Formats: sequence, C-alpha cells, structure tokens
Amino acid sequence: MSSDDFKNKAFETRAVHAGSVTEDNTGAVTTPIYPSSTYTVAYPGDESGYVYSRSDNPTRAALERALATIESAECGLAFASGLAATATVMNLLGPGDHVVANSDLYGGIHRQFENVIRKRGIDFSYVDGRDAQNFEKATNDNTKLYWLESPSNPLLHLTDIEAVSRIAKKHDIRTVVDNTFATPYLQQPLALGADICLHSASKYLGGHCDIIGGALMTNDKATGEELKYHQNASGCMLGPFESWLVLRGIKTLAVRMEKHSSNALAVVEYLKTESIVSRILFPGIDGAPLPNRMKTAGGMVSFDIDADAETVSKFAQSTKVFILAESLGGVESLLNHPARMTHASIPEEIRLKNGITDGLVRLSVGIESSKDQIDDLKAAFAAIK
Ligand SMILES: *Cc1c(COP(=O)(O)O)cnc(C)c1O
Repeated sequence: MSSDDFKNKAFETRAVHAGSVTEDNTGAVTTPIYPSSTYTVAYPGDESGYVYSRSDNPTRAALERALATIESAECGLAFASGLAATATVMNLLGPGDHVVANSDLYGGIHRQFENVIRKRGIDFSYVDGRDAQNFEKATNDNTKLYWLESPSNPLLHLTDIEAVSRIAKKHDIRTVVDNTFATPYLQQPLALGADICLHSASKYLGGHCDIIGGALMTNDKATGEELKYHQNASGCMLGPFESWLVLRGIKTLAVRMEKHSSNALAVVEYLKTESIVSRILFPGIDGAPLPNRMKTAGGMVSFDIDADAETVSKFAQSTKVFILAESLGGVESLLNHPARMTHASIPEEIRLKNGITDGLVRLSVGIESSKDQIDDLKAAFAAIK
C-alpha cells in the first residue's frame, strides 16, 4: 500500500502508516534501514532511481514522505538537526535581506541568527510575537522572512500564525513556523497559511531522547525544490539509522501527545497550589482560548520560583522523575533551568529583557504516572523550604 492510500485518513492512522514501504524481498512490515552510500545504475548517467545517499536514501525517503503526510504538506525533508534545517532555510536568503522573528526563540536559533547568519549581511529584528501586528511594524522594504515559534521556548507565548501569515502574504514575505513544541498533532501551521514548517525532530517527533534530527515541510513546490537543492548541496541531511528512529517515533506521536498533554495539565494544577511559584507559563492558563486551532496546550510547562538562582539550582538538582537535562519531548520527564542551560548562550541583559529570569524552570512533562511526577516536584519544593 502506498502512503497516498492514507491521505484522507485521520492523523493517528496517517502517523502509523505514512511513508512506510513493505520490503519486496521479505515482506518486512517496517521500512528497512538502508545504509548503502551508493546504488548500482543501469547505464552511465542513469538517474532514474537512487544514485548516492546524500542526494536520496530509501530510509530517509520513507521518513520524508511521513513528514509531509503528518503536516499535510506536499514536501517533507529530513536534516541532521533542527539547526541544520534552520541553516537550510537561511540559505534561501542573501546579503541585504531582513528577517523579523519573535524575541523568545530557542537559544541555538538565536545564536545561529546573530553569530553566523548576520555575518552574511542578513539583518534580524526581534518582536513580541503575542501581537501579530508587531511583525508588520518591524517590516521594511528588505524583509523576506517572518520567523516564529509558537508556543515559544521557554516562555510558551503564543503567536497567531494565521494573522502573521496574512500580513506576510500582503508584503510578499515567506513565513516560517517552528512547530517543535506543538507537533503536527496539536497544530498545523501550513494549513494556517505558513509557507515552511520546521521541527527539531530531536524532540517530540523522535520522542525518546535518542536521536538528533530536523525537518522542513512546505506546500509550495518551488520552495520544496529549492530546499531540497540546498539539502543536497550543503550535505546536511539525516542519516538512515536516525531516519528510521524518527519514522518509528512518528507512529506513536498521537498517543504520546495525548498523555504529555494530560500530564502537563495535572502538573499545572498542582503548581498553582505552591505559594513559592510566582508565575506559571502554560498556553491558555490565562483563560484565553488557544489560537491556531491548537488541540491541547501540549506537554511543556514553565514557571518562576520566587527565590535566588542558587536556590533554584538546588531545586533543579532535587528531582528524580524529572531528570535535570536539556532538551524536551521525550517519554521521560526533563527539567531545565534556562538561565544556566538552554538559554545561557543569550547575553544576560537580552535574556532578562525577554523574561527569561534566573528563577525560571522549564519542564518537559513526560508520559510517566502523573502522581509520581507531582510527588517528585513536591519533594523538590520541600527541599528548598
Ligand atoms: C531543540 C530545538 C531546536 C534545535 O533543534 P536541534 O535538533 O537541537 O538542532 C529548534 N527549535 C526548537 C523550538 C527547539 O526546541
């Protein structure tokens, strides 16, 4: 059965079947890992099938079909990391071009924009993405790209993707949405008008904290071809083994996201009872409806502890179910102290201005028992009281 047969099926069904090919020689149900770097061709110059694995690999091709299917996109591409996917989007730009991005971005993306891409003569402006109009206000004649993360990292702010995409179209600007936190199960940026959707597959798509990978999806054929050209020209594609792991992860994405979401809601309810917690950041916590037709608020929760950095550090070292580690989106719960970990690469002044305080803690709520997660947090709070 080809992945086309599943096009009109529900997300859960597509996620399980998308991209997979039954192997002809054995009838194996799961897509094999093809490590071969090169392929025999029928005659010199024959490019009708696979030629060389940087350009195309059967395991990666299966994943790329799956990536397209889950974001309801025409084209999906798999990269060595989320940052490799980011760099590939930046290859669409040239000297003099200008990008407007929301200000609380994943730290590594902010570093790439400021320390790598800026050197090529590309300019960046950062705005508070909670108001879509801010993108338009920062637009100038050279603006070529709107870049947004929603929910954002680590403050979980939401941007109205539909509104930003509408403004972008008016000015002939492309919109890129980093959909890593929401995943295509909860939110579909391309259906809301975005041109390119990006994922760090290292997070929820892989889902088990055991791979580094990235993805781009688009519905525009020309953009897809352009991105594929750069994927091959700069050689930043995902390897076959990692492709297989992401393909496997995607099959359980729907059930994992349901459990991540319900566990996160329970953690938020518990945090509301802790008086030392001065602020909880969670989509929809202020009672506002979730924009972007988001199914649920997802599995990420951030909060401020009303204490100095040393005390927060002690709290962070006290949990056991929540493992003190960077990253997110795996089945295991993780705890991160952004000021000293994921966002340490952002200059302090900018970090504080953007609301990433010394007391901020970010949780990636895993799929363990909700009671064990909450008991773990209770014990850690007790340790600092
Ligand atoms: C982790 C992450 C990235 C970067 O992805 P890597 O796979 O680590 O290169 C980009 N965006 C967001 C929102 C992330 O969480």
